[in-house]
Amino acid sequence: MAAKKRFCSTGTCRHAYCKGEREGSRRGFIQGIGYAVAEIVRSHDQPTIAVDVAGASGFDYQDFKGAGVDEFDLKQLRPLRRERGWPGTKR
Ligand SMILES: [Zn+2]
Repeated sequence: MAAKKRFCSTGTCRHAYCKGEREGSRRGFIQGIGYAVAEIVRSHDQPTIAVDVAGASGFDYQDFKGAGVDEFDLKQLRPLRRERGWPGTKR
């Protein structure tokens, strides 16, 4: 296994490698939140808390979908779009 390349952590440089690392990291972060929010609904039936967590993250349903959150979890997130507090719920 090759040694992991270091990337600039400034969050502003334009190196292709660094940009890839930042985007991958952001995707992973959103996926993790998506999983956790879905789990709150799936295992605990707490949509109010789930929306609170999702809303606090600042990400909306499209962000979770776009980041590649698994359909197994998206299925739990879709009904939350109707709950108060979810960003962009006015649809
Ligand atoms: Zn860089």
